[in-house]
Amino acid sequence: MGDIPETHPRRDSLISRQKLVEAATKGMLADSALIAHGRGEAFDYLLGEKTCEAAKLAIAETASRLQKAKKCVISVNGNTVALAGTQLIVCAALLNCPIEVNIYYRTPKRMEVLLSTLKEQKQDASELFPKMKDEISRVKILGDNPDVRIPNLDGPRANCHSEGIFSADTILVPLEDGDRCEALIAMGKTVCVIDLNPLSRTAKTATITIVDELTRCVSILIELLMNGSDLQSTNWNNENNLQNVIQEILQNFN
Ligand code: ATP
Ligand code: MG
Repeated sequence: MGDIPETHPRRDSLISRQKLVEAATKGMLADSALIAHGRGEAFDYLLGEKTCEAAKLAIAETASRLQKAKKCVISVNGNTVALAGTQLIVCAALLNCPIEVNIYYRTPKRMEVLLSTLKEQKQDASELFPKMKDEISRVKILGDNPDVRIPNLDGPRANCHSEGIFSADTILVPLEDGDRCEALIAMGKTVCVIDLNPLSRTAKTATITIVDELTRCVSILIELLMNGSDLQSTNWNNENNLQNVIQEILQNFN
């Protein structure tokens, strides 16, 4: 990242691109991953590349639901591990929950690289938050040995762990796919997603949709989980929140 000037106005975006290019070289990503990221970037530009007020409310609601869950899990794919794996391990440590790798194009090689990257990121997380070293070391990384399937979903992305995604009542899934989101909702789960596109099927189907860039959002989530000892749940209306995001986008045009 050394060659991106500190003063570049779009530094964060360039760093993310570089992280994804490096992840692609390591074999962590599907071929379409960079296209998915590009679609996200376009929406982020419309949002002014900042966390909007409606997203702040959705992040707070997500923090509260995760904290109050009987059993929660964080589901990650290749882009998520590349952009925010370390930060999500910190979230998992704060929530005392596992992280499960679930990818659309599942190959043994890609799973192996993702699982080993997450193990390295556990080390990075401990260095960043030395006081949480023990909690971080206890975070279970699942995905290597799925033993059950999400009902009504085709293909390998339905494979999951009975001790992780399958039995969790609340799930945080950054960058989820619409089909899978529907299948998780049909299982009766509280599904919290992070998706820059307020019009996607994922955004419209989830219980709580955070329309924000993944790395920006997860930093706020960590702060809330660290400082908000008893986070309050509200009477959440996801459709209203998405409308408010769209209104904020429209105001950026004035
Ligand atoms: P859906 O499956 O929900 O109908 P889609 O098929 O259009 O939507 P996917 O290709 O499944 O979308 O996933 C990409 C989604 O992830 C896009 O909606 C994009 O906005 C979002 N996205 C990509 N990168 C990021 C990021 N860094 N932070 C947040 N969201 C992102
Ligand atoms: Mg999709």
